[in-house]
Amino acid sequence: MNVTRATFDEVMVPNYNPANMVPVRGEGSRVWDQEGNEYIDFAGGIAVNVLGHCHPALVGALTEQGNKLWHLSNVFTNEPALRLAKKLTVATFAERVYFANSGAESNEAALKLARRYALEKFGEDKNEIIAFNQGFHGRTFFTVTVGGQAAYSDGFGPKPGAVLHCDYNDLEAFEKLISEKTCAVMMEPLQGEGGIISPDADFVKGVRELCDKHNALLIFDEVQSGVGRTGQLYAYMGLNVTPDILTTAKSLGGGFPIGAMLTTAEIAAHLKAGTHGSTYGGNPLACAVAEAALDVVNTPEVLSGVVERENLFRELLGEINDKYNVFSEVRGKGLLLGAALNQDYAGRARDFLVAATNEKLMCLVAGANVVRFAPSLIITEEEIRDGMARFERAVANVVNA
Ligand SMILES: *Cc1c(COP(=O)(O)O)cnc(C)c1O
Repeated sequence: MNVTRATFDEVMVPNYNPANMVPVRGEGSRVWDQEGNEYIDFAGGIAVNVLGHCHPALVGALTEQGNKLWHLSNVFTNEPALRLAKKLTVATFAERVYFANSGAESNEAALKLARRYALEKFGEDKNEIIAFNQGFHGRTFFTVTVGGQAAYSDGFGPKPGAVLHCDYNDLEAFEKLISEKTCAVMMEPLQGEGGIISPDADFVKGVRELCDKHNALLIFDEVQSGVGRTGQLYAYMGLNVTPDILTTAKSLGGGFPIGAMLTTAEIAAHLKAGTHGSTYGGNPLACAVAEAALDVVNTPEVLSGVVERENLFRELLGEINDKYNVFSEVRGKGLLLGAALNQDYAGRARDFLVAATNEKLMCLVAGANVVRFAPSLIITEEEIRDGMARFERAVANVVNA
């Protein structure tokens, strides 16, 4: 059957607006479309393809598990899930793991656990959740309500209650909001969708201290920042602040859908048998691939390589900006970088993305003013230089249009 981009408009719900070409194959940081055009991938499937496309270790793990056991539900446990959970607990602060299939579901689990924990330990009045403006936590109704962009949660009827917001990096505002009624604070330790906003070190420390003072759980949403993206396995490790609950997805499966919620044994104990669950969560295929990805990513070579690649990205973006003067700054950490457009190009991030696609480069935006890069953590120097040459042509096209 012949399918094209036009088929999308015929048969798909129109909630997405995909690019005009249809990719059919990928290898490393290169992707080919139906016409045989070759693209460099600086998007990584929105910070997902942590080892690029079709990494041999992931293909091997998927193939091996695919010939062994696909699915049994959580009526049974399975070896890949147990191995992955073990490795995640060894590598992080966490002692217990809950598997889901996406970032939103991992956050949903974290929020439900926080509510249950507070109810059982402190009573029903301790139920408020504080999150931050511009934050993003997924698209289920609870997580989109906790997210800090009303535009995403409005228009679907009554929202889940007791969810408050304040500005990111505004400790004073946060201190005014938190109280004995706060059960949990959910934050990204580097805001992704909101525009690649790094937290001030003092802000994160202050949030942690105020959470402790008010017996509120601190939930770090590391769905985008986790699994090596910032040059550390998880971003919290670079902030010297440990959360009570951490959620991880996107890069975790390197392209295979999986998410996880990590926490301590004491907190986990409140999600007793029957309180929460998922049919697919901890699926053997997903866990086998994620285990293979974690084995590759959580090594000094790959993690220090992220910092080297970040430096090259920053250097080449700086050279482009010297010529064309389009960015006010390049921000973010590791291979989660945002080039923020200056006043002259305010609101035009999408124009740069479209121009990049035309030059056979895949990148992302983060809001209307930021071009975002979230490539494979093992993208080669040659691919970075080739991709940046394409990006420079894209920038020139926008500037000269
Ligand atoms: C992408 C993202 C999510 C949602 O993940 P899904 O897998 O799309 O449900 C949640 N939080 C953050 C920080 C994200 O970047």
